[in-house]
Amino acid sequence: MNRENQIPEFLKLRLSSLQRFLNEAKETLHLGVPGVFVRRSDVQGPTVGITVLTHGNEIAGMDAIRRLVQENTLDKLIRGRVIIVVNNLLAAEKFLAMLRMGMPAIEGTLAARKVDLNMNRLPSKLKPSEPKYEVLRALELRAVWRSFEYALDIHSFNAQSPPYIVCPTNHLDKNLLKGLPAEKIITNITKIQGGRPACSFYGQKGKCGAIAFEAGNHYRIDTFENAYEAALQFCRNVGVLPSQAIQRRKYTVHKVVGSIMATHESQILLRSLKEHDFVKKGWLLTRAVKIKKTIPAETALRAGHVLFAPRENQLKPEKVGEEWFFITAKPKPVTL
Ligand SMILES: [Zn+2]
Repeated sequence: MNRENQIPEFLKLRLSSLQRFLNEAKETLHLGVPGVFVRRSDVQGPTVGITVLTHGNEIAGMDAIRRLVQENTLDKLIRGRVIIVVNNLLAAEKFLAMLRMGMPAIEGTLAARKVDLNMNRLPSKLKPSEPKYEVLRALELRAVWRSFEYALDIHSFNAQSPPYIVCPTNHLDKNLLKGLPAEKIITNITKIQGGRPACSFYGQKGKCGAIAFEAGNHYRIDTFENAYEAALQFCRNVGVLPSQAIQRRKYTVHKVVGSIMATHESQILLRSLKEHDFVKKGWLLTRAVKIKKTIPAETALRAGHVLFAPRENQLKPEKVGEEWFFITAKPKPVTL
């Protein structure tokens, strides 16, 4: 078996406690909604959301909240309240069941990323008539999500690359971002991607200091540490946990300006592309083959730099119907 596909030992050892925690989450209700834990202080302050498992196979986030809940870290809040949410409960269940039965960690469990819709590609209006689990779950969570004044949505990814922060808009709120254990900050992605991310529903009328944190490769132990540390640092940044002295960190800011869609399973990549490679406007980047009807080739509509480059030797898209990769403006350094 490919080493990359094996379940790492540290994760095997945590599987039963993660399953127990998920079982506890299913029984823990807030506003009548399962999968939601609330920790509050006696002092007035902001409502802070920590959300995880928007994608069911991104288990580092659930391990981070398992630790927050079990190690009683949030019993020491100095003001406000923290609401911890397992966003995609059913996909999380699916993922843990697959992992327990020995599915290869990456390719095998990709099916557990969602139940039937990517929860970060939700329709602009959530309708109960929409027969998709993720839409119904988003509707169920809507009142909880709306109560957030600040929120951190924790993810992880397939590539072997460093953690990064995603700001849905162009606004960089340095107070929210400082000290987060990442190297890159991605901005403007919500305007470019198709569908709405879960975090765009957070807060009253979308007014919420919400960011996403991509903690690293799904199955590395340092990703699990990054996810936990990011949750704590975010709580310090918004003032619900006591602040700590931190060293200023250097990040690069990547503003998303375009995307290349994965439109068909027969689509192939026509150029080898590495992260941050420059592409010229009009370059033919992918083409669909072996098809009866014609599908237009995907060309770069903007010049820029590749973000989330396909993995080496991966010439076919992983997720048809979603962005294959993005195009960004020239990366800019920033120190926070
Ligand atoms: Zn994710």
